[in-house]
Amino acid sequence: MFDFGFLIGDVETRCFASLNRYAIVSNIFCQRRETSRLNKFIPPNSEIKNYPSTPKSNIRIPKSKITSEFRNQNITFAIFTKNCTMLRTHTCGELNINNLGQTVTLCGWVQKSRDLGGTTFIDVRDRYGLTQLVLNVDTDAALRETGRTLGREFVIKVSGKVIERTNKNLKIPTGEIEIAVSDIEVLNAAKIPPFLIEDETDGGEELRAKYRYLDLRRNPIRNNLVLRHKMAQEIRKYLDGLNFIEVETPVLIKSTPEGARDFVVPSRMNPGEFYALPQSPQTFKQLLMVSGFDRYFQIVKCFRDEDLRADRQPEFTQIDCEMSFITQEDILNIFEGLTRHLFKTVKGVEFDDFPRMQYADAMRLYGSDKPDVRFGMEFVELNDVVKGKGFGVFDNAELVVGINAKGCAEYTRKQLDELIEWLKRPQIGATGMIYARYNTDGTLKSSVDKFFNEDDLTNWAAAFGAEKGDLMLVLAGTADKVRKQLNELRLEMGSRLGLRDKNTYAPLWVVDFPLLEWDEETERYHAMHHPFTSPKPEDIAKLDTAPGEVRANAYDLVINGTEIGGGSIRIHDRDLQALMFKHLGFSKEEAQKQFGFLMDAFEYGAPPHGGIAFGFDRLCSIFAGLDSIRDVIAFPKNNSGRDVMIDSPSTIADAQLDELKIKTTV
Ligand code: ASP
Repeated sequence: MFDFGFLIGDVETRCFASLNRYAIVSNIFCQRRETSRLNKFIPPNSEIKNYPSTPKSNIRIPKSKITSEFRNQNITFAIFTKNCTMLRTHTCGELNINNLGQTVTLCGWVQKSRDLGGTTFIDVRDRYGLTQLVLNVDTDAALRETGRTLGREFVIKVSGKVIERTNKNLKIPTGEIEIAVSDIEVLNAAKIPPFLIEDETDGGEELRAKYRYLDLRRNPIRNNLVLRHKMAQEIRKYLDGLNFIEVETPVLIKSTPEGARDFVVPSRMNPGEFYALPQSPQTFKQLLMVSGFDRYFQIVKCFRDEDLRADRQPEFTQIDCEMSFITQEDILNIFEGLTRHLFKTVKGVEFDDFPRMQYADAMRLYGSDKPDVRFGMEFVELNDVVKGKGFGVFDNAELVVGINAKGCAEYTRKQLDELIEWLKRPQIGATGMIYARYNTDGTLKSSVDKFFNEDDLTNWAAAFGAEKGDLMLVLAGTADKVRKQLNELRLEMGSRLGLRDKNTYAPLWVVDFPLLEWDEETERYHAMHHPFTSPKPEDIAKLDTAPGEVRANAYDLVINGTEIGGGSIRIHDRDLQALMFKHLGFSKEEAQKQFGFLMDAFEYGAPPHGGIAFGFDRLCSIFAGLDSIRDVIAFPKNNSGRDVMIDSPSTIADAQLDELKIKTTV
């Protein structure tokens, strides 16, 4: 919030005298090479503190809004703030001790008012901050009258002089000054808001969702959106700098295959037919590559009709990208660069190269394709160590695997029983847990002492690399299931041990995903990423013999155990794409009907290409230190997919249904 200095030229020639306005004709004060030359025009003790880089401005500023001006030779130099408008000179967040004596006009909302006999103090708030107003109601009857009517959240316009406060509040930037109000105008009255518009509010989630426009007045929520804005700007800056162009793709399309349910929109002009909302711009961005746009990006809304969770919304935003003439290495480098750029510019955090992990290792060591690598606690497989001792649970299990909870040997029986109950909840579904304590006195004790003596447990400890004071937690069962369960346990223990600090960031590339994934329900292979993902050339032969073993040129970026984004190198050859559809169980006709346009395009010179998409909301929520993406979205939906503020979804009139030739059965 600095004052802005603009060279506005000779008043006689440049000033719109009749309108009493200045035309801002140059921003040369912003240009470093000019400052020394122009410094001589700036009088000593002037209010100009820096030369911010603003674009050459075409705005015309009314003379009354210029806080000071001076002439030097035939050049007039005027000072005003960039937030000044016809109604205000400054915002509520920018006045400070340097503005003492100035006459200013502010607009904003009444945060609170305190009546101290002859003086009334009012805090006026806007997006930029809070300024204290002082109304001498003893001497000014008009002020007294208006002052009396003001309630919380009234919108006011006040003019007055900036004076020094006797009782300073050094916690806020405006805390050393106040405005001695000479004039006050109510621009709009307000009902008493249903909850406190404060950082800590008394409003419950439902209530705040209904009055989201009021919730958005609160600093924590607004700050999230400011952060999101800043990130979006930096993304555009970075990608534009690398020759990416932003292209909009349509929203009314037909189904895209990201694996979720589509939202559909009936077509009035084509009765009985429906558009689908894009789950992502996947096919369009590939077509743009065929069109020769070799670097595309879009910050774009995507729609997926899925059950909602904290990090899911039916509509969400992707940073969607695609590139031609690249390999996986190019994509990883450029988007690691983007992530680094964001962390550096927005959070001031710098990283070494992001580690990379094979999908197979991620599953083996963490039981997850998005491991939280802020902490170790890697899985230790114990089949060789524990089998053959007569303990059926281990002997009959496909996999016995555990983690070492460092320093937890003192866990009480009660704590451990609770942990076992926690694991047995249907969300996790473990049948039980075995534990072994490596006591501080060097003894080893397990929950299966009947089968394992101290020597055996010493072998366990060696496998875990456990030390005195540690607690070994072991699960057994079928490999896939038990890995998933142990992943949950590992994350829980990580949280309990304080190893998942929100201000620590651990990015990780997971690479070499399988191409296909077996789906128990449909008894078919599905594309793990999507059907346009290219198999690794060396694995193509396995498509017929061992489809589950074919690896893809596919990659995910994971930060702190959250999947931030994923992408792949694509198929760009019609025959390979057709083969892929065949393996996914599409008939020739189905494949042609749904994706013929793409396969046709591949016959007109499709370049090798690949891409990635980041979940923008998730990235923002990680930057903001939030668990939910809801608060980085201005108007989110609740867990049932409803917008309770506008009350949507809602029924529509029969006439509208008739027009669409739709009959509902509910
Ligand atoms: N369209 C993909 C997705 O939404 C991302 C990509 O492959 O670029 O997951």
